[in-house]
Amino acid sequence: MYTTLKEVTSKAEQLNYTVGAFNAHNLEMLPDMIRAAKEQGSPIIIQTSIDTAKYIGHENFVAVCKSMATKEMVDVVLHLDHARNFDDIKEAIDKGYTSVMFDGSHLPLKENIMKTRAVVEYAHKHGVSVEGELGTIGGTEEGIHVGEDDKVYTNPKDAIEFVKATKVDALAIAIGTNHGQYKSKTQVNIPLLREIDAVVDVPLVIHGGTGVNEQDIHELINNGIRKFNVGTELLVAWTRKAKETFEETKETKSLRHNIIPCNQAVKEVVKHKISIFRNIEDRTLILR
Ligand SMILES: [Zn+2]
Repeated sequence: MYTTLKEVTSKAEQLNYTVGAFNAHNLEMLPDMIRAAKEQGSPIIIQTSIDTAKYIGHENFVAVCKSMATKEMVDVVLHLDHARNFDDIKEAIDKGYTSVMFDGSHLPLKENIMKTRAVVEYAHKHGVSVEGELGTIGGTEEGIHVGEDDKVYTNPKDAIEFVKATKVDALAIAIGTNHGQYKSKTQVNIPLLREIDAVVDVPLVIHGGTGVNEQDIHELINNGIRKFNVGTELLVAWTRKAKETFEETKETKSLRHNIIPCNQAVKEVVKHKISIFRNIEDRTLILR
C-alpha cells in the first residue's frame, strides 16, 4: 500500500523495529529499493531531497512509488527530506508525497515551533505526515554545513514542548550523528536518547544513519528510533559500481548493462540494512 509515515511507524512501535528511510538519488535505483523491501517483508520509506525531486519530477516519484506499492504489495511511504520552506513542502504534498520533513532546527525554538505547526496544519488536512527536527545534525546536507563546534544536541525539555505544541508525527533528534559520514563511525549518545524517549511519545528519527555503527542499531531501536535514514551508503554503492561498469564496457553497449549492476548494489545495501532494522533477535526474546 502507498501509505504514510505515521502508519508505518505506528506498526514499528508496536513490534519494536525501525523502518529504513532510504534516499533515492535517481529514478534508476528506485524499483530495486522497493523490491529489496518486499523481499525482506518490510515497509520502506523512500525519501528524496528537494533538488532530486525537482530533477526527476515529484509526480514521477509518486507514480513509481504508488504503482510498485500496489504491484509488489509492499508498504511504501514517499517522504520529502529536509525542507526549510513552506512552498517546497506544499508542492510535495500537492503532488502526492505522503510525508514531509520540515527542518526548522536552525531556528530559535519558538520560531521552529510556529513554522512546524503551520506545516502540520496544512499536511494533516491532506492526510500527510510530518517529521520535525530539534537540535543540529553534523555534516553537510543540501549544501548547508554544520561543523563539530556548531552541533547542538537535542534538549529533552525542548522536545516535550516542541512535540506538544506542533503535533508532529515524528521527531528527528541530534544525538551525535552526522550527514554524509561514510568512512568513520560516530559515537551516538544513548543516555540522551533514553532521556528523550522517556519524555516524548512520538516516533524518533535518526539522520546520518550511514555513520552509525551497526552494532549500535539494536540499542537505538530499543530506545524509540522508528525511522532510520540511510543516504550516503546508497550513493557510494551506486557510484562505485558505475565507475567499474562504465570503465569496462564499450560505448556502444546497451546502457542497462552498466546500470543494472549499480541498482543491484543499492538493493544489496537496502536488504542488508533492513535485515538489521527488523530487530528480529530482540523481538524473538520478547516473544519468549
Ligand atoms: Zn538528514
